[in-house]
Amino acid sequence: MAVTIYYEQDANPEVIKGKKVAVIGYGSQGHAHALNLLDSGVDVRVGLREGSSSWKEAEEAGLKVMSIEDAAEEADVIMILIPDELQAKVYEEQIAPHLKPGDTLAFAHGFNIHYGYITPPEDVDVIMCAPKGPGHIVRRQYTQGSGVPDLICVEQDATGSAWDTALSYAWGVGGTRSGVIKATFKQETEEDLFGEQAVLCGGLVELVKAGFETLVDAGYPPELAYFECYHEMKMIVDLMYESGIHFMNYSISNTAEYGEYYAGPKVINDESRKAMKEILARIQDGSFAAEFVADCNNDHAWLLEQREAINDHEIEKTGEKIRSMFTWAK
Ligand code: NAD
Ligand code: MG
Ligand code: MG
Repeated sequence: MAVTIYYEQDANPEVIKGKKVAVIGYGSQGHAHALNLLDSGVDVRVGLREGSSSWKEAEEAGLKVMSIEDAAEEADVIMILIPDELQAKVYEEQIAPHLKPGDTLAFAHGFNIHYGYITPPEDVDVIMCAPKGPGHIVRRQYTQGSGVPDLICVEQDATGSAWDTALSYAWGVGGTRSGVIKATFKQETEEDLFGEQAVLCGGLVELVKAGFETLVDAGYPPELAYFECYHEMKMIVDLMYESGIHFMNYSISNTAEYGEYYAGPKVINDESRKAMKEILARIQDGSFAAEFVADCNNDHAWLLEQREAINDHEIEKTGEKIRSMFTWAK
């Protein structure tokens, strides 16, 4: 195995239980980390903007809530779970002034450290605990007794115990129940961005959309196109996720399997692979990061334009209608 994987017995829960932890932000990842840590018996507090709409929600869930400054001041471990593009400013203004030597600064994605938008002082540990799944699944699986796998990374080990802290934190959010992989900030950042761009989000949505449009343009009913190219995706992916491509192939018909080998390489062809290499190169040389940050500084103009386009797409309208007519989504 090219990677090191840690499980429950490898982590020392007392490390994180012996520290005061601040979770900054209460969004997708924030609520999951904070609630899982709380249920694991960790002394956790949530740091939020004054007037944040999440303040009441976090309190009602049983969490201590305070300003970002107070949380950073009180805590030994500060996990930053606000959107990547806001982290540098919030870090500079509200967190950095409260860092003490030996504190731990923690992230769930390496973007700001790896591309140099945040440069912590040398006397703090800089770690990452990145769940390999959406925040709501991180919480759901924890409450069900399992956990989403995490990557743990250490960029800066001022105390000499940064790895112990990272692994113990991963225990607290439930990652060691499943398995925790040791990685670097560079690996996590570049692989995470590549995966979401080329395959998981970018690749997937475009693939589904292109299939849907091909059928609809050829005169097939959008509802049927939706079932074939969108709805069934989850079932195929579930089979692959649970037991491998060979099991998915075993479950589908020979006709479907033959079609898979025949058509797949025509759709994802040399040109697609070349595009993937270019996408990876732009992630590695920082030009994707710079472009994303520039759009954020331009009030997300490009992002919002794209979001509007997909929200207005026929596939979304069809999906909404279909999901309201069948029982699985109710
Ligand atoms: P999010 O957009 O869901 O949450 C943002 C939260 O930050 C808000 O709920 C709010 O509490 C706070 N916030 C928003 N604006 C703020 C401001 N101006 N000042 C202070 N606080 C503000 O974020 P997220 O998707 O959970 O992402 C958090 C981090 O986790 C990022 O580094 C992201 O890359 C990483 N990550 C996310 C996921 C995921 O499932 N979404 C998965 C892995 C890693
Ligand atoms: Mg990501
Ligand atoms: Mg079929």
